[in-house]
Amino acid sequence: MTERIVVLGAGFAGLWSAIGAARTLDELGVGADRVEVVVIDRSAWHSIRVRNYEADLGDTRVALDSVLDPIGVRRLEGEVTGIDVARRTVAYAAGGASRSITYDRLVFALGSRLAHPSIPGLVEHAFDVDTHAGAERLNTHIASLAGGVSAPGQSTVLVVGGGLTGIEAAAEMPGKLRTAGVMSPRVILADHAARVGAGMGESALPVIDEALHALGIETRGSVSVAAVDPTGATLDGGERVAAATVVWCAGMQAHPLTAAFAVERDRLGRLPVEPSLRIKGLAAEFGAGDAAWFLIDGVHTSVMSCQHGRPMGRFAGHNVVCDLLGRPLLPLKVDWYTTILDLGPWGAVYTEGWDRRVVSRGAEAKRTKELINRQRIYPPRSGDRRAILDAAAPTVQAPPVRFG
Ligand SMILES: Cc1cc2nc3c(=O)[nH]c(=O)nc-3n(C[C@H](O)[C@H](O)[C@H](O)COP(=O)(O)OP(=O)(O)OC[C@H]3O[C@@H](n4cnc5c(N)ncnc54)[C@H](O)[C@@H]3O)c2cc1C
Repeated sequence: MTERIVVLGAGFAGLWSAIGAARTLDELGVGADRVEVVVIDRSAWHSIRVRNYEADLGDTRVALDSVLDPIGVRRLEGEVTGIDVARRTVAYAAGGASRSITYDRLVFALGSRLAHPSIPGLVEHAFDVDTHAGAERLNTHIASLAGGVSAPGQSTVLVVGGGLTGIEAAAEMPGKLRTAGVMSPRVILADHAARVGAGMGESALPVIDEALHALGIETRGSVSVAAVDPTGATLDGGERVAAATVVWCAGMQAHPLTAAFAVERDRLGRLPVEPSLRIKGLAAEFGAGDAAWFLIDGVHTSVMSCQHGRPMGRFAGHNVVCDLLGRPLLPLKVDWYTTILDLGPWGAVYTEGWDRRVVSRGAEAKRTKELINRQRIYPPRSGDRRAILDAAAPTVQAPPVRFG
């Protein structure tokens, strides 16, 4: 009888889980007649989501079939709607019909989504860079601004959320506006915290300040948005910010289907997993990427990032196969942590360690950022079966290269 590994999601964690499982099956000489690997995603694309703030989104998606077909992984396109752990069954909707599929081992990798607190008008009127579709919608809107009726705030973009995503989105914005023909663009980057970018730490903060200043971006701390409408935002206290574009970048939450598992989730809604990526307390279910957490170096909690999502995926894929075949599992431990933050045309800032010490900045750091975003995190696109499988070995990569 054929046993089945089902991977939910084909983002950084899910795609690499599926390739990792296929690689280990190949290494062990186990064919698809004995164990099949199935991936379910709502989209036919692997989105390089970390590039969603860029002006040109042309090369930010990889056709899943171009990676999965050569390695014999079956792809189902559909919306996952439920998981029944007792029956080892996943429910999904495809082609207008409700369907289900059973599993022997499961990897939950449905990722995260932008948190939308209940602020009037937020869902209807704010833009985001959370998904490829959202990023395209934002770029299309920006491109249309110059031709629009001149109104207060027409040239203003308010980016809410001064974390990494908000800073990257804001840093690209003056360039996008100018390319669109918007005269005198104004970009405001606002955050709840007293200082924008404070989360990046004392070492990086002056670099971020310098870059945002050079790009002409205004920063505002201690800002709380009370309502959003098509012409701007109203802040707590009643202040009005006229802005034809409000971009919401404030906070992530793990996928709501994490609730399908009877385990205690963290404040981000993530599933607790072992270093093997098995969900704590469960037998056949594993979790990886933004939807899961564990102490990645034995001390620090894994971060919602492709930096952690990709190795979590590779190890989860390897381990589900080993678990199914009664072989020992490999614990994941990543003993380095870096942050490379894009600062638009100014460059980037590269920090090392959990205390985020700046090790490179400006154009040199930008070279690293481009290598990561345009090469390092892509699956091989050659269609070469061996190259795709080899890329998913359950090993930890060295930190990104530093220039300068
Ligand atoms: C603008 C931006 C910049 C970022 N920059 C960085 C960075 O510099 N460095 C870094 O490490 N991280 C960065 N991140 C974070 C990084 O993108 C995420 O941590 C990463 O995408 C998580 O991978 P994942 O596979 O867990 O989830 P995702 O990438 O979210 O993938 C989830 C997959 O599940 C699918 N899916 C979801 N729900 C369903 C459903 N119900 N049914 C079927 N399919 C479904 C989706 O289509 C998707 O393919 C950034 C994120 C953003 C938005």
